[in-house]
Amino acid sequence: MKFTELDIDLPDEAKAMRDLARRFGMEVMRPAGIELDKLHDPAQVIAKGSVLWDVIKKHRELGLHKLLIPKAFGGMMGEVPPITETLISEQLGYADAGLAISLAVSSMPFAMAVLSPDAEVRNWAQEYAEDTEGRMIGCWGITEPDHGSDWVIGTTPAGANPKIAPSLRARKKGNEYILNGHKSAWVSNGTIATHAVLHVGLDPSSGMHGQGLAFCPLDLPGISRGEPLDKMGQRPLNQGEIIFEEVKLPKKYMFSSTPGGLAAGGSGITFLGIANLETGVIFSGLAQAAFDEALRYAKERVQGGKPIIEHQNIRLKLFDMFTMVESARALARSVSRYNRGKMFAGSGKSGIAARIMSTKATFAVTSKAIQVFLKLYHLSKKVDLTRVFPRKGPRNKRARTSLGSGMHGIAVKVLATETAFKVASEAVQILGGYGLAREYPVEKMLRDARASMIEDGTNETIALAAAEDL
Ligand SMILES: Cc1cc2nc3c(=O)[nH]c(=O)nc-3n(C[C@H](O)[C@H](O)[C@H](O)COP(=O)(O)OP(=O)(O)OC[C@H]3O[C@@H](n4cnc5c(N)ncnc54)[C@H](O)[C@@H]3O)c2cc1C
Repeated sequence: MKFTELDIDLPDEAKAMRDLARRFGMEVMRPAGIELDKLHDPAQVIAKGSVLWDVIKKHRELGLHKLLIPKAFGGMMGEVPPITETLISEQLGYADAGLAISLAVSSMPFAMAVLSPDAEVRNWAQEYAEDTEGRMIGCWGITEPDHGSDWVIGTTPAGANPKIAPSLRARKKGNEYILNGHKSAWVSNGTIATHAVLHVGLDPSSGMHGQGLAFCPLDLPGISRGEPLDKMGQRPLNQGEIIFEEVKLPKKYMFSSTPGGLAAGGSGITFLGIANLETGVIFSGLAQAAFDEALRYAKERVQGGKPIIEHQNIRLKLFDMFTMVESARALARSVSRYNRGKMFAGSGKSGIAARIMSTKATFAVTSKAIQVFLKLYHLSKKVDLTRVFPRKGPRNKRARTSLGSGMHGIAVKVLATETAFKVASEAVQILGGYGLAREYPVEKMLRDARASMIEDGTNETIALAAAEDL
């Protein structure tokens, strides 16, 4: 069966980029992922000479790392049709979901840096866009050894509980913040990253609501790393602990220095929703890959004197898998379109969004406006005019932001990762004993998909957080 693209209006430029990503995925990422998955010691994954570095370098040479970097900083945002990034992430997830996550997370600090009030930090985006060697690698440091789901629940009123305050603390001292604490072994790219977008505790009395957000170069004195994490799925994805001991972080790197500012106006849940959407898109790609493997095998494997696809139970199973994959991809694409549609209002190369994306000055102004908003929010809290997170009351009144409530992005992540897991599990069943063998890719896909129901927040806790907005 040939794949039918239901999106008949995809721009040619986006389709060409999708096809490029497909070739890179199947020729470079898929074989590299299989090789890295088999390594016994996760330290070998990141060792000199590992194929991981070939994947990162090739991804950079093709310019695929620039998709979330605005045009003004040498990136592709505002340059290519908005849906392009989604199509590419599907393809990279199809090839190897763990590596796709590594590549996606890598751009996070640099894509977000364009909103920093500091021009030097904003320029990280440009340096990253120009880096074709893979010298700059990003990570998202949020989970701590003693706070996993607490960060997710932190986006709800329950997050105000001082008992769940972040353990990585940032204490202001003159023109610096002094950081002490750990980010957990689950941080993707944790042992290889050069830069982090880092969630820190500023005001422990407000629990998770007292958090701030910093851009952090990871070569500052006092920062060290743990060992690469050994785990069941997504083994090509490097993960590891980051330790902060009396780290002096210059003030200019603190993006959100007003405790709770990050959660203001529902931005905590929006942030989670954006990250979750990307993960969902990647795992909709894995779901398609597992379906394709099962279908191919069912047409070849003969039992009872005929290909197993001619047995009704296998045929029905495959049709169920097909329906699930199409549904997950359709939701992922429609939420992506909605979010990007909001972001790129007046799209097209001469539209407003394209013009905003093409000038650095607009980012300087936006970053100032964000800082003013955060300060006003802090002030309003102090004089108790409003509370975005009422501690009592049946319903959180957090405001919806321009990118929706985050609820839709979370719905995509839950649906796509559970679809990926179910489809990969059924694929193993269809392959029978061979499904369990490393000779076929479905057992790895099953392990990779299993991990996805925990990453970016367990599906249960992100659903609980999203349900606040129902
Ligand atoms: C592949 C992968 C990649 C990851 N990448 C990153 C990354 O890049 N950066 C990063 O910072 N982190 C990352 N993580 C960490 C991930 O976000 C956490 O593992 C996740 O948030 C869950 O936290 P935990 O593992 O501490 O589980 P816990 O929070 O200890 O949860 C244990 C169980 O209790 C349930 N639970 C916990 N609290 C509640 C509650 N309040 N209500 C109801 N149920 C609850 C959970 O659903 C779960 O079943 C990654 C994880 C994985 C698996």
